[in-house]
Amino acid sequence: MIAFMPTIYEDELCYSWFARYYCHSGYPAYGYALDDLFGKRAIHFNAGYISSSFQDDAKGIITNMIPMETLILEHTMFPTARFMEHQRMQKALECMEREEGKASSLIPLPKGRDTRYLRYCPCCATEQRENFGEAFWTRTANINHASVCAKHRCKLKNTGIILSGKQSPRLHIAEQVIEDTEPEFTDNTIEVKFTEYLTKVFHAPVNKNNQIGISDFLKSKLEGTKYLSVSGQQRNIRLFYDDFMDFYRTIPDNSITELPQIQKIFTGYRFGFFEICQIAFFLHIEVSEMVAPVLPEKSQAEVFQEKVAFLRKEGFGAKKIAGILGADFHSVQKAGITKKKAGHDYSVRKGITREDWGKMDAEMLPKVGELCKNLYFNEDGKPGKVSVGAVCRILDFPNKRINYLPRCRSEIRKYGESQEVFWARKIVWSYRKLVSEGQGISYNRLCRPLNLRKENFISALGFLSLFCSEEEAACIREVL
Ligand SMILES: [Zn+2]
Repeated sequence: MIAFMPTIYEDELCYSWFARYYCHSGYPAYGYALDDLFGKRAIHFNAGYISSSFQDDAKGIITNMIPMETLILEHTMFPTARFMEHQRMQKALECMEREEGKASSLIPLPKGRDTRYLRYCPCCATEQRENFGEAFWTRTANINHASVCAKHRCKLKNTGIILSGKQSPRLHIAEQVIEDTEPEFTDNTIEVKFTEYLTKVFHAPVNKNNQIGISDFLKSKLEGTKYLSVSGQQRNIRLFYDDFMDFYRTIPDNSITELPQIQKIFTGYRFGFFEICQIAFFLHIEVSEMVAPVLPEKSQAEVFQEKVAFLRKEGFGAKKIAGILGADFHSVQKAGITKKKAGHDYSVRKGITREDWGKMDAEMLPKVGELCKNLYFNEDGKPGKVSVGAVCRILDFPNKRINYLPRCRSEIRKYGESQEVFWARKIVWSYRKLVSEGQGISYNRLCRPLNLRKENFISALGFLSLFCSEEEAACIREVL
């Protein structure tokens, strides 16, 4: 039974609060304090979160002092999940409020193979002792990858206490662990400025209603930079990556080391807090914008389309337009033809909900069906191979989108065929073409235009009858 629960300090980690409860309770061992709080003496603990459900009376006392949501948003590392997909984040928050499920299954916790340790800023600890008479563990010092305190421009100190890892920490009381140590100041301006930015984003209220995906927002922020072509169609992520790595080369614990990591952020498959803040700081995006992102009314690509359309109307040719707009010739050519009237742009994902996916699935189905047919028989009737990859490439769909569109996917699968069957289909087509042109049939004439190797040809022979009569098949076999 909790007799006295101390007040929680601003930015204090829940874990620290529980440890102070243990300290003030006078219990001989921390297990008793855990028992009061969670009804068991040993729990698997991630010190950045509340990893277990409270005992009923403990919950009553705690939620009387501070609402559960505030506790999660202001006293755990939850704000580092703020860039997750909206629905997923909301779900995670709800589950945590209801104390269902482990934090690790709800949000992408840092997966680093190394164990992470609780950290503190020695200057902050001194201030806490002066102001409150005791030190406590803060969230700010424990943002993954951050290694300085922006407020004091000094390096954070590691303790031996596991923050997240295989082992659970005991309740370590900051006041007892943190010794008076000499702070180690840093003159790395970029690191300090960036950490200041990171800390501000971390502390900004979590916008629970934000529907705009961070990847779409970051992509929109490439507009007008050298990392996006004038037509708004091509991102030069390689150049971005090189400049980015150069900009942050002095930061000791860089979370991004490889180009694909950046690509995944821009395509919406990574939500790491530290790395997204790094990109945002690099692109000079204001903190207020990061917290409440807004997409421009028109994308650069759309504006480009309009300009091209206008200039075409004025009678300019593609080459001239390319010169005027400073764009390359092909994108101007493409702009006029393929996207004359851009309806919904299916290549971007702007806060798409489940219903939207369903709608898109239905809307796209005839288009996908038509496309499959066209792929199966190319313009001149030449067989082509239908695959998810080919369809996505033509529709300009991002990787994996088709997974959200079950009807379209099964339409594509109808055309599934093995490589040998595909070859057989091509051979029959080639044979009939030669016959209709009145040409003699030979192995070379048959296979050369198809780019078929002899072993391919042989392995396809068994499937000829799927596409032609027995006599035709016999003629084809004869060429060997
Ligand atoms: Zn500090």
